[in-house]
Amino acid sequence: MTTENFETFSELGLSENILKALNEMGFEKPSPIQAQGIPAVMQGSDVIGQAQTGTGKTAAFGIPVLERIDITSNAVQALVLCPTRELAVQVSEEIGRLAKYQRGLKIEAIYGGDSIDRQIRSLKKGVHIVVGTPGRVMDHMERKTLKFDEVRMMVLDEADEMLDMGFREDIESILADMPEDRQTILFSATMSKPIMSITKRFLNDPILIKVVRNELTNQNIEQVYFEVKPQAKVEVMTRLIDMYHLKSLLVFCNTKRKVDEIVEDLQLRGYASEGIHGDLRQQQRSNVMSKFKAGVTTILVATDVAARGIDVSGLDGVINYDIPLDEEYYVHRIGRTGRAGMSGKAFSLVARDEKYRLKSIEGYTKVKIEKGVIPSYEDIVGVRKARFVESISNSIKEGDDLNLYNDVLEMLHHSGFSTEQVVAALAKQIMGVQKNEYADSNLAWEERRSDRDGRREGSGDRFDRRSSGSRFERSGDRRENDRYAPSSRRSEGGRDGDSRRSGTPEAGMTRLFLSLGRKDHILPKDIVGAIAGEANIPGKTIGAIDIYDKFTFVDVPERDARAVLRAMDGNTIKGKPVQIDIAKQ
Ligand code: AMP
Repeated sequence: MTTENFETFSELGLSENILKALNEMGFEKPSPIQAQGIPAVMQGSDVIGQAQTGTGKTAAFGIPVLERIDITSNAVQALVLCPTRELAVQVSEEIGRLAKYQRGLKIEAIYGGDSIDRQIRSLKKGVHIVVGTPGRVMDHMERKTLKFDEVRMMVLDEADEMLDMGFREDIESILADMPEDRQTILFSATMSKPIMSITKRFLNDPILIKVVRNELTNQNIEQVYFEVKPQAKVEVMTRLIDMYHLKSLLVFCNTKRKVDEIVEDLQLRGYASEGIHGDLRQQQRSNVMSKFKAGVTTILVATDVAARGIDVSGLDGVINYDIPLDEEYYVHRIGRTGRAGMSGKAFSLVARDEKYRLKSIEGYTKVKIEKGVIPSYEDIVGVRKARFVESISNSIKEGDDLNLYNDVLEMLHHSGFSTEQVVAALAKQIMGVQKNEYADSNLAWEERRSDRDGRREGSGDRFDRRSSGSRFERSGDRRENDRYAPSSRRSEGGRDGDSRRSGTPEAGMTRLFLSLGRKDHILPKDIVGAIAGEANIPGKTIGAIDIYDKFTFVDVPERDARAVLRAMDGNTIKGKPVQIDIAKQ
């Protein structure tokens, strides 16, 4: 089976509901792991997928799982095991998006730290797909609140990570408890001995799928990456275009929807850009292409698929607006520039959660991609001024008919303007420098120790109220997510895993756990307002606030802790009921 066999999702024989959802999600083409994995899983085989996060592996198993669910039955029919609660939530959300048009389909994420009673209530109502961490799944098995008699599909996601975290026994007990005739799918970035031994014991004649890699990068291409906040990507892109005077440029992104958004944003900023993706009719495509070739549009924004069929040469550069899902795409993308001995620029805009994808591209291409410095606003004004001066000098040198305009300056002098004012106003108009929307300091994300270590992102936003006064700024010292702290890894999402465990608060303070988090859209001011108001304590005595996706830690003075618990118990914040407790240390 090769990737080339399946160019589109519809060729994979998927149902209309899934195709509709995929289209809305902007997925244009199966990623390599999907093109190979989906048919293998759909035909009912056990599958081992060697793939990392970022390759599209969730949909590779999520789609066939959804295709096999019988909605008329209320039983759990698929179980997905993930190493951490973050991944469990992410996977259940992605499957939820894919299932948007499968009416009545129920998915539940089950992990340590979330209320077990709430999970039990949900499970009782009937759930088709359970996505959970091994420890919490075991808990439910022991309580008999989760039954697996009807499970047909079992997925082990990031299996190597689960083993590293010490979940081997739990995984084996769970696998042993599954119906014999189930289908088992295992994803792992590495194929270590322990993984192989699990597959030997629990998988039945599995198909092994690995993404094939075959093309390496061109030496003439200058490859640079920039660490950019997602919302600042267009701004940074335009700064790079200005700075490096890129006059014909391909911008790549992963989804059709993104193509449209970027084009609109670039056009609003006055850049001649157009987009190309699979939704365009042939006539529209040809139009876009001929304008680009003629230089009427200078920036072409494309998805990987759309770009495949186009033949353009002599590009100044390629910008990876986002990092592709597969290393191979990266090679194809940047191969569009630097052709025929010409040098080209390949810039990649990397958000924090894309950094590891860039690392795997470096590993694959064996090329070090240099980190670039985002040009400052002053740099941009500087280069535009230099170009303006040059073009004016050229006009003066070349222009025979300039005398036609001689009287313009005189007219403006008559209106009381000085020559300097006139030139400055003209320069501003012609250079097209817009007002600086973004502070230079607000474009890049800050590197944390965990990023440098190659670990992944923490999930808590820390607001240290005392140092930032009442503005609730995020402090640089964001707390690392438990998931990435090796010493506490085992407890994360595990049987005894409990998100109520927190670090140590300052002396004289007690750390409280609140059952609301980022997902509930609460802000530090809401928490301070509720606690101070309900418990009648001064807001300024409330200490650090750590907001996570689903819960929050907040420090209050020791002497007020009981009063806060009493006042907040059964109360609400921003209209949402909250549970409050002393955080476990
Ligand atoms: P995963 O490896 O499953 O964590 O996926 C990484 C990211 O790629 C997720 O944000 C997915 O929504 C996205 N994604 C997955 N498959 C595709 C696809 N075929 N086209 C575009 N984006 C995708």
